[in-house]
Amino acid sequence: MHETLLLFGATGDLAQRYLFPSLLNLLRDRLLPPGFRVYAIARQDYTTETFRQYLATRMPELDADAPELIDLLNRVEYIVADLADPSQLPDRLAALKGRDCVSYLSVPPGLYIPIAQGLKAAGLLDAPSRLVLEKPIGRDLPSARHIIEAVAACVSEDRVFRIDHYLGKAPVQNLLALRFGNSLLEAVWHHRWIESVDILVAETAGVDGREGYYANYGALRDMVQNHILQLLCLIAMEPPSALDADSVRNEKLKVLRALRPMQADQVLSNSVRGCYQAGVVAGKPVAGFQSPTPGQHDTETFVALTAFIDNWRWAGVPFRLCTGKRMADRCSQVVINFREVSHWLFEKPRREKATPNRLVFRLQPEENIELNLMSSLAAPEWGALELQPLPLDLSMPINLRRRIAYERLLLDAFHGNPALFVRNDEIEAAWTWIDSVAAAWKQTNAPILPYMAGSWGPTEANDFMPAYGVGGSAKSGRKGN
Ligand code: NAD
Repeated sequence: MHETLLLFGATGDLAQRYLFPSLLNLLRDRLLPPGFRVYAIARQDYTTETFRQYLATRMPELDADAPELIDLLNRVEYIVADLADPSQLPDRLAALKGRDCVSYLSVPPGLYIPIAQGLKAAGLLDAPSRLVLEKPIGRDLPSARHIIEAVAACVSEDRVFRIDHYLGKAPVQNLLALRFGNSLLEAVWHHRWIESVDILVAETAGVDGREGYYANYGALRDMVQNHILQLLCLIAMEPPSALDADSVRNEKLKVLRALRPMQADQVLSNSVRGCYQAGVVAGKPVAGFQSPTPGQHDTETFVALTAFIDNWRWAGVPFRLCTGKRMADRCSQVVINFREVSHWLFEKPRREKATPNRLVFRLQPEENIELNLMSSLAAPEWGALELQPLPLDLSMPINLRRRIAYERLLLDAFHGNPALFVRNDEIEAAWTWIDSVAAAWKQTNAPILPYMAGSWGPTEANDFMPAYGVGGSAKSGRKGN
């Protein structure tokens, strides 16, 4: 296990909100080696002492003398560097030469190449050192290839760990366990029994503070290219022959390559773009999205898409993908909608209670899995013919603390297990499909529809969210228990 972490961008939002708290939890649970050290690198002018003081203030739920906080702080050293300049790193990191390091790039993507070049020059990417990259890798296929090739000139692919933190979430791993650990589910896991699949990632947060980045990306590139397509892959892939990294990634890649490219003559019926306007979220008034570039109005903060996978298993099954900012509720979930029974025997001629079976994976705010069946009330006064939906909670009844997704991924990076990280050809295949959507929008001048902050997006997108009750149908799946 590697015991030296170089955390680039250590003063940033991701590092402060997720990475340091994850490290603290791992240390508390004694999952890191005794010699574990963190070298925190960023451009702000801290010393090790003042950075430690700052870090302590970012964990206000812990007392200043909490042993786990003191343990973490004692392992952190701070290094100032301008990371846009690769020539600075060999000198600044000279003392680390010869160590087996994990370098985590929690910085804007424009810095990936200069940092990789600086690390290589410093000798800190020699085997067995590893490089962890955050998303996004590029903003289209050519820019992604440029980064992939430049990084490949510094470190071999088997030591590059591309993060998609959704893959570190427990329900996402349970999706694999449920699918491949049960003949019951795998037997019905195809177009004959599955009518459609819905993937929703709804955020109540706005773009707040990241307008410059976001205006250049939009929801399609920021969320669909990575998190949503990775979820789609895990649902749609064929059973791998083993759970090693390459067997799983080979199957995911086949799914991405089977995605039907979006055509201009279908894009207007198979997608909706939106941008939030001023509104009210959680009882508070919020402003609409404003690009920092005056006159720029081509950034979507909401996107709904129907994707099709052209292969034997999924022929004709719509995958409805939807994500937005400043939505009515914070909710990420995957819903597998099974087909209706072919002939309804109960409560004839009414069959309005006949809810098709659904398997729901909730990723946030709760993490749980639910299977919706139909069942008889089985009480004598009703007899056995009146059916009711019966939600079965399939979550493991555990009392353990829910882990931050980054805890699992950091541990895997320290151990050198790449199974939950994304390979370069997956990134390229995902961009190929995303680029087809962007090109079809451009060709058709696809409009960006306004929606009020605190709503479920433009009303034109209601049909893309049937499993969540948006637009007036069943409300069962929208929120947790
Ligand atoms: P941020 O802007 O909050 O932090 C960026 C960090 O990089 C800071 O520490 C800053 O000092 C450092 N930095 C920037 N330019 C530098 C330079 N020239 N020299 C030295 N240091 C420099 O960004 P963030 O939100 O923490 O995101 C970091 C990365 O993680 C990005 O690639 C982002 O896309 C990705 N990401 C972030 C989140 C999140 O929740 N914040 C989620 C998923 C992915």
